[in-house]
Amino acid sequence: MVAKTVPVDPFDLVVFGGTGDLAARKLLPGLFHRFQSGQLPEGAKIIGAARGEMDTKGFQAHTRKAIETFVAKADRPKADVDAFVAIVDYARVDAMSNAGWSDLAKLLKGREDRVRAFYLSVAPRFFGPICDQIGAAGLVTPLTRLVVEKPLGRDLESARALNKQLSDAFDESQLYRIDHYLGKETVQNLMALRFANALFEPLWNSHHIDHVQITAAESVPVGTRGGYYDQNGAMRDMVQNHLMQLLCLTAMEPPAKFDSDAVRDEKLKVLKALTPITGTDVDRDVVRGQYAEGPDGPSYLTEAGDPTSKTECFVAMKIGIDNWRWAGTPFYIRTGKRLRTRVSEIVIRFKDAPHSIFDAQVGGLKGNELVIRLQPDEGIQLRLNIKDPGPGGMRIASAPLDMSFAEDLGRDIRMPDAYERLLMDVVRGDQTLFMRGDEVEAAWAWIDPIMEACDHGAAAPQTYAAGSDGPSDSLMLMHRDGRRWREIGA
Ligand code: NAD
Repeated sequence: MVAKTVPVDPFDLVVFGGTGDLAARKLLPGLFHRFQSGQLPEGAKIIGAARGEMDTKGFQAHTRKAIETFVAKADRPKADVDAFVAIVDYARVDAMSNAGWSDLAKLLKGREDRVRAFYLSVAPRFFGPICDQIGAAGLVTPLTRLVVEKPLGRDLESARALNKQLSDAFDESQLYRIDHYLGKETVQNLMALRFANALFEPLWNSHHIDHVQITAAESVPVGTRGGYYDQNGAMRDMVQNHLMQLLCLTAMEPPAKFDSDAVRDEKLKVLKALTPITGTDVDRDVVRGQYAEGPDGPSYLTEAGDPTSKTECFVAMKIGIDNWRWAGTPFYIRTGKRLRTRVSEIVIRFKDAPHSIFDAQVGGLKGNELVIRLQPDEGIQLRLNIKDPGPGGMRIASAPLDMSFAEDLGRDIRMPDAYERLLMDVVRGDQTLFMRGDEVEAAWAWIDPIMEACDHGAAAPQTYAAGSDGPSDSLMLMHRDGRRWREIGA
């Protein structure tokens, strides 16, 4: 089976921060793959723009190195790399001065009829100045789009200020706030599963679902980025954006259409229906943690470089949604560094069958589980109770009905990275998988009081063993409700 690609319109993409880490690891390799698959139209131009002294040849060599480093050898025949680097260009610009902007304008001159995307792969303090410079250099055309990355603020106030900066220069319809979790195949499959099948939606509510678990676990520590990470922590880095977005897609009402505003309106309604967690509720419903020193490395506090730090690198929370669909069905979320293994998944735990016709000795009937795995192996699994095969009478066992996408599509098909899909959506002008400004603010409005309580000593970080499933209080968060987390990496 051959992966399908839908051609996009001619475009120019300017990557501010084109010499940075994100560009090297994700953006340039992603564009290379799209180029290889024939999706980039003739004459598409990719321009790296950054402060570093470099010419086009230098940036082409930089691009080649990024591809050689971050794309598997078998996937990058030299002829493909040669052809791709030939379409990249470079402009040396300084976000904080006028230097270089006329050079960038020259590269874009006469190309006003095509889609023009600016990707701000730079620190957020440069967003405002770059928007101003783009405007002052006369580079905004009717087909211009602006792409920004997290962090989109560190609280409601800063998020509002950032939204204002962006909306002063661009219309909301031109703004693409990337959350790469939304570019994952499985996340879109969650929507297909829910809204393209008649099977699940009638069951998708508190009458049939006992609870939902959302996990985004990493096995890596904060490492050398500890000092930087310590200024933010897991709540800001993961919960406010990625986990909230996954929760919204799981919990939202069916939109009338699969279009960007219809989907984003429904996600916004979920954010507005979240039960506030304030004051003493924070100690009850929020668990924060920091990993201890382990055989493979130092503790979080050592890596953060501050032995008194109260920043969390693990969060678990119990969240309620105050609406008809979800009243009484909690969502448990957790994320952390240095956990047992790297896995991101959504688990829908259905209620137990109301009555068992089987004797107790045939084995316990477990509630059905729908597991939507985002990484490492994207796929969906439905756990059903079946008869344990073979002789020995009626015994019940829990067995998975597995839908692994890699297998389904043929093993030799490479799953496109989330950035690849999202970059092409920008060119197509499809904002469905991007966050709208009001969503970002609503998520901060809910998180802010929790962070405030934490700053005043609530849910003080607990130490957890490196390579474990997190602090013991995280397990208690479930146990006290008679539930348990799915083991990380099960
Ligand atoms: P980086 O430090 O590796 O690169 C920064 C880039 O900005 C460089 O190309 C540099 O030349 C350019 N730059 C710095 N000052 C400039 C100026 N005055 N004018 C013009 N260009 C200037 O950063 P990064 O890791 O690539 O991250 C970029 C942004 O993306 C950050 O906001 C980061 O939080 C976000 N982000 C990064 C990742 C990642 O995986 N690296 C993931 C998610 C979000």
